[in-house]
Amino acid sequence: MSSPYRIPFNKATLTGQEVENIYQAVENGHISGDGGFTKRCHQILEESLGVPKALLTTSCTHALEMSALLLDLQPGDEVIFPSFTFVSTVNAFALRGVRPVFCDIRPDTLNLDETKIETLITSRTKAIVPVHYAGVGCEMDAIMDIAKRHNLAVVEDNAHGLYGKYKGRYLGTFGSMATQSFHETKNFTCGEGGALLVNDPKLFERAEIIREKGTNRSRFFRGQVDKYTWVDIGSSYLLSDVLAAFLAAQLEVRDVIQSRRKEIWTYYNTHLADWAKASGVQLPTIPEHCDQSYHMFYILLPSLEARTALIDYLKSFGIYSVFHYLPLHLSDMGKEFGGKQGDCPVTEDVSDRLLRLPFYNSLSQDEQATVVEKIKEFRTEPTAI
Ligand SMILES: *Cc1c(COP(=O)(O)O)cnc(C)c1O
Repeated sequence: MSSPYRIPFNKATLTGQEVENIYQAVENGHISGDGGFTKRCHQILEESLGVPKALLTTSCTHALEMSALLLDLQPGDEVIFPSFTFVSTVNAFALRGVRPVFCDIRPDTLNLDETKIETLITSRTKAIVPVHYAGVGCEMDAIMDIAKRHNLAVVEDNAHGLYGKYKGRYLGTFGSMATQSFHETKNFTCGEGGALLVNDPKLFERAEIIREKGTNRSRFFRGQVDKYTWVDIGSSYLLSDVLAAFLAAQLEVRDVIQSRRKEIWTYYNTHLADWAKASGVQLPTIPEHCDQSYHMFYILLPSLEARTALIDYLKSFGIYSVFHYLPLHLSDMGKEFGGKQGDCPVTEDVSDRLLRLPFYNSLSQDEQATVVEKIKEFRTEPTAI
């Protein structure tokens, strides 16, 4: 089926080396988890980020589920999340019986509002899960300080933020754990995939066990035990080495991928600046102390009506732009947990007005110029269209 869009919203990152690597994985004769390409991905992630342990998983969702298991969360425990995030951030914890507590976001970076966290902490609170939205770091100094004072774990949902930095330090290295996504829509991809970064050495062994169906198989393969057996709860969270081969092709050339994304982001930001100012449109805020990961480019229109009109306007030229998260506290599940209108006013407002523009590594300069040109022709007053 052909798409009605000349310029889609997303195309998977491809380096040209993926198929060659997959062929190699097949030749190697090890296509299940933890083969040679998985080990290479672990090594790249650990060395490039300076994390002590990286484990590839079948998805970021599963890495989040692993983190909830590793924290031993019990029914009735509370965890603090932004409402402005993907379902999995919260669902992975709800699966353990956790009661989600939704915190509002900052109007500038759209990240967890660190000044609102403490009012939400109760005697049942066990963890905080910041999401580095668009790969721009949350205020980690303040968040880590709150976590420390209240003895809470921090798990970073870093699905957007691989290779972004906060105050010179890589995102994903602050919490006791962090999760990555290699879904088709992310900077680096193998279709479906993820990783759990484990920063707390006390969690290493159990992380391996939970990822290997509750067995000590990893220790067995290292010769540390002479048979492997069922030792804990767990599941099957290993990524096939066929997919790790695909992913390795991209992680090897991470700087090339990231610099291309930086070019695309910078082009939008530069060429839309005057139009945005004249049209009451807000462009992304990147604080001085944050190096972003160039995951996406979004704009904040003055109203829901203006956004709908711009989506339709761009669509008429074959350009696919999309909105993003609906507030989780107002979802059917969120309401079951007590969420109601007005709980997170910034989230509710931003969710109506945010629009993401086509963003992928093979977006040509001409195509990007077309997107910018059409946006500049657009008038934000809905009546003027
Ligand atoms: C994409 C995404 C996920 C889920 O990633 P999967 O690999 O598809 O499970 C989780 N959290 C955030 C913030 C995401 O953007």
